[in-house]
Amino acid sequence: MFKRISDVRKENEVGATISLRGWIHRLRKQKEKTFIILRDDRGDIIQAVCPSSLCEELTIESSVEITGRLKKDSRALEGGYELKVDEILVFNIAATDYPIGEYQSDETLLDYRHLSLRTRKMINVGKLRGALLKYSRDWFGIEGWMEITPPLIVKGAVEGGATLFEVKYFDNTAYLSQSSQLYLESMIYSLGPVWTISPSFRAERSRTIRHLAEFSHLEAEIPWIGLSDLILIQENLIYNIISKIKLYNKKEVEFLNKDSLTKLEAISTPFERISYENAIDKLRSQEFIIKDEEDKKRFIEWGDDLNIESERELTKDMTSPIFVTDYPLEIKPFYVKQNPEDESTGLAVDLLAPYGFGEISGGGIREDDLSKLKKRMHQSKLNIEDYTWYLDLRKYGSVPHGGFGLGIERFLRWILNFDDIKDVTLFPRTMSRILP
Ligand code: ATP
Ligand code: MG
Repeated sequence: MFKRISDVRKENEVGATISLRGWIHRLRKQKEKTFIILRDDRGDIIQAVCPSSLCEELTIESSVEITGRLKKDSRALEGGYELKVDEILVFNIAATDYPIGEYQSDETLLDYRHLSLRTRKMINVGKLRGALLKYSRDWFGIEGWMEITPPLIVKGAVEGGATLFEVKYFDNTAYLSQSSQLYLESMIYSLGPVWTISPSFRAERSRTIRHLAEFSHLEAEIPWIGLSDLILIQENLIYNIISKIKLYNKKEVEFLNKDSLTKLEAISTPFERISYENAIDKLRSQEFIIKDEEDKKRFIEWGDDLNIESERELTKDMTSPIFVTDYPLEIKPFYVKQNPEDESTGLAVDLLAPYGFGEISGGGIREDDLSKLKKRMHQSKLNIEDYTWYLDLRKYGSVPHGGFGLGIERFLRWILNFDDIKDVTLFPRTMSRILP
């Protein structure tokens, strides 16, 4: 096994002869000496100095194995170690027209994402993404939830017809899943608390900085739960992930955004809770204006959905996320349980991230009453036939249950304080982008 940079950047390796494999990240050729920054397959970098005679053919992104003696040099980049190279084995000499350099427009970097993944920024984003997925898995594992993988080719809509991607399914039409919720719901009867991180697909026609056409969706569903316990589960999961990031991923966060570390430090539990009604009152007291359907400006009112502007207004001065509960039933999907204490509202909860970032998760208690659910489906003009299987769950042993869906990219965008969701996505899919 060959060594990685993180294995050798150590005091006790100084003076030893070491071989490292990787790519030429930077290259500065001088007459006698050539300075290389080598990047290994974990994205770590180290400085190497070689006799120029060994480096004549080298280009940026050539893949090599370099062998040399490790030196301590306080001037060297990344930790003060340098390799004095005396042998280079070449795997591939990269073509000289490597399109990623120091200054590129965001669009160019996206056009070449398969290569710009090798930039320091995307390496750190990739590591943080991986860490976030790992910490999620760890949490659910320790808490005893069962991980499942749902079907992604489906017949029915979850979030409504407007954002469905149609696929030709043999001689029929099917859709790409907008959410795994309905399938997770069907599993609680035999597998208990279940969860998944699966792709969800939404044909979002608006070009926004927080919507993707394909995103990583962490979804969870649990039997015999009420709204307040569901809130605690989310708070616990999210706070746990953030604590681990603070503990193990300081380097990545700091590299990507220095401010983020301070902001992460300021997050505390319990996260605030506010009812939709109180949120509307608060917005009205701040004289918050929205545009109605006729494009007229007016104060926000009970019954209006909280769009990004209202979410921004609600959270711009906060430092921790906030749960908004008890939305009007009308503005929430058919499966949301009617509030037994107030027929006009549903037991739904959205989690809004602070500093104006807005919704990162949505969930709530599901309607477990067959006739109420059917009525809501009729009102939502759904084709009941596509959902008979889902209705069976209410017919045979219905139980109170609930769950939530958290957007992994939304979560990352918030903790990194990035404007655009594309920046935390390895291969973003949007209305105008499906390549690479
Ligand atoms: P929004 O109102 O912000 O568009 P939503 O209400 O449509 O979101 P849900 O259906 O509740 O979202 O989905 C659960 C979570 O999935 C959201 O809280 C968000 O984190 C994430 N999510 C939803 N749509 C997208 C998208 N198009 N791109 C990225 N993440 C998304
Ligand atoms: Mg929502």
